[in-house]
Amino acid sequence: MIRPGKMLVQVLQSLFKKSATSQYPFKKSEMPAHYRGKINFHPELCIGCKMCERDCPSNAIKIVKVGDKKFEAQFDLAKCIYCAQCVDSCIKKALESTKEFELAVLDKNKLKVTFCADVKKDTDK
Ligand code: SF4
Ligand code: SF4
Repeated sequence: MIRPGKMLVQVLQSLFKKSATSQYPFKKSEMPAHYRGKINFHPELCIGCKMCERDCPSNAIKIVKVGDKKFEAQFDLAKCIYCAQCVDSCIKKALESTKEFELAVLDKNKLKVTFCADVKKDTDK
């Protein structure tokens, strides 16, 4: 058992030591290369093959035809497990993983995101 006097010395010493942990969220963390964060969609590259939709293990992505050779992607980020299988399945490179990881929200509906033509819109707005 550590004696109180020795413990006090250790406490005082720790006050002047450099922190071993990062100061998140005051200091932003840089994610490593190939980090699998929020998925991004490039509608101009999509051909509507739906391979991403078929391979998604969480049923979190839906591709919808919205016009002649135009498709939008509907993501339910609450279901997404960020495995990036959809990115790997897309032969047209229309999907990509980003380094965005700060996705916590109080309203689950805010995690339903639709990417269309040239605009990204949140369905709750
Ligand atoms: S796999 Fe790629 S090209 Fe095919 S529907 Fe999905 S995003 Fe579009
Ligand atoms: S990252 Fe995984 S879970 Fe999320 S939409 Fe893509 S395939 Fe589905």
